[in-house]
Amino acid sequence: MRTSDYISLEKQYLAPNYNPLDVVIEKGEGAWVWDVEGKKYLDFLAAYSALNQGYCHPRVLNAMIEQAKKVTLTSRAFRNDKLPLLGEKLCNLLGYEMMLPMNSGAEAVETALKAARKWGYTKKGVAPGKARIIAMENNFHGRTISIVSFSTEDDYRDGFGPFTDGFDIIPYGDFEALEKAITPDTVAVLLEPIQGESGIIVPKDGFLKKVRNLCTANKMLFIADEIQSGLGRTGKLLAVDWEEVKPDMVCLGKALGAGFYPVSAVVGSREVLTVFKPGEHGSTFGGNPLAAAVALAALDVLIDEKLVERALELGAHAMNRLEPLKSNPLVKEIRGRGLWIGIELVPEAGGARKYCQALMEKGVLAKDTHHHTIRLAPPLVISKEDLNWGLDQILAVLK
Ligand SMILES: *Cc1c(COP(=O)(O)O)cnc(C)c1O
Repeated sequence: MRTSDYISLEKQYLAPNYNPLDVVIEKGEGAWVWDVEGKKYLDFLAAYSALNQGYCHPRVLNAMIEQAKKVTLTSRAFRNDKLPLLGEKLCNLLGYEMMLPMNSGAEAVETALKAARKWGYTKKGVAPGKARIIAMENNFHGRTISIVSFSTEDDYRDGFGPFTDGFDIIPYGDFEALEKAITPDTVAVLLEPIQGESGIIVPKDGFLKKVRNLCTANKMLFIADEIQSGLGRTGKLLAVDWEEVKPDMVCLGKALGAGFYPVSAVVGSREVLTVFKPGEHGSTFGGNPLAAAVALAALDVLIDEKLVERALELGAHAMNRLEPLKSNPLVKEIRGRGLWIGIELVPEAGGARKYCQALMEKGVLAKDTHHHTIRLAPPLVISKEDLNWGLDQILAVLK
C-alpha cells in the first residue's frame, strides 16, 4: 500500500476531526520518522511534546516490554508494585507530597478542577454548588465538555453546549483583570505557564509570581497545566521554575508517557489531594502498572540524559540561528523558551500551513498553530547537527 491508499482509507473510515499533513509514518527513531515510501523526515513537533524523549526510546521500550510480560492492569481495586514507585519518584522530583494518576491530559485537568472544587467546599467554606474557577483566554486544557466550557476558541465549542457552569475568564497575563475577577467563591486559578496551542505565548516576567501571591492572599489554589510545557520542554523541569513559583497543583501528561503510552497525573499537597476519599474519583486504567513502568523509565531518561539542560542549550542556539528572521517581512514575531519556539507570521503571509507543507517537502515535519504561527518543538534528544539541518530548511522556506 502507498501513501494515497492509506489516505483514502482514512478519509473513508476515520471521523474527520483532524486535518493532518499528508505523510503516512511507519517508523520512528530519535528525532526522525520514515514514511511508507521510505522517505525520512526530521520531526519538529514531537507529538505536541509527548515525544520529548524521542521516538521509541530503547530504555522506555525495554521497560514497557518487561512490564508487559508480567502484569499490565490490575485496576485500583488491587494494588500493584509499580505505582507506589512512580508516586515516590514524581513527587520527589517535583517537590510535591502526593500524586493522583490518570491517563489523558484532559483527565488530569478534570481531576485538578474536581479537587479544587471539593477543597473549596471542605476547606475554604464555599457554599455548596457555588465554587468558581478563573481560567485564561486562548487557553488549551483539553476537549471534555467541562474543559471546553471555559475555552474561548469557537472551533472547540460550537455545537457542544450546554456547558459547565462556574468558570470566569480573563485575558492571559492580565494581572489587574485577575484581581478584579476574584470573588469570595473563587477556589482556584487555572493557567498554562506558557500557552502552547495558542502559539507559544510567554507571559510577562513576574506574572506567575504575582498569581502565586494573589492565590495565597485570597485562599485560592494555583493550578498550573504543565501538560505541554512541563518535563523539560522550556529548558526547566517545569515552566513555572522560570519564576521559581510553586503552584498548589500541577497537571502533567504527554512526555510522562514518552510517546509510548498515555500517562497523566496531578501532583499537589497532601492538604489538597486528600480531599478525595475512596470512591469519589478514579479511572479504570489510571495508575496501571504498565503506565507506571513506562512513566518511571520516561522520567529516568529525562534526568539521566540531561534532556532539560539540552532543551535550554539547544533552545538558545536555535533562537540565535533564527535571529535573521526577525528582519524578514513574512515574520511578525519569534518567541519561546527552551526548545519551544513559535514563529508568528504576518497575516499577509496567508497562514502558516503552507510553510509547514513546504517544510514537509524538504523533510521537516512541523505544525502550524493558531493559523499564523509555525511551532518548533523537536524531541529533546535531537542532535545539534540535526537541529541545525532542520533550522536550515526553515530559513530556506521563509526566504
Ligand atoms: C495536550 C494538552 C492537554 C490535553 O491533553 P490530552 O492528553 O490531549 O487530553 C491539556 N493541556 C495542555 C496544556 C495540553 O497541551
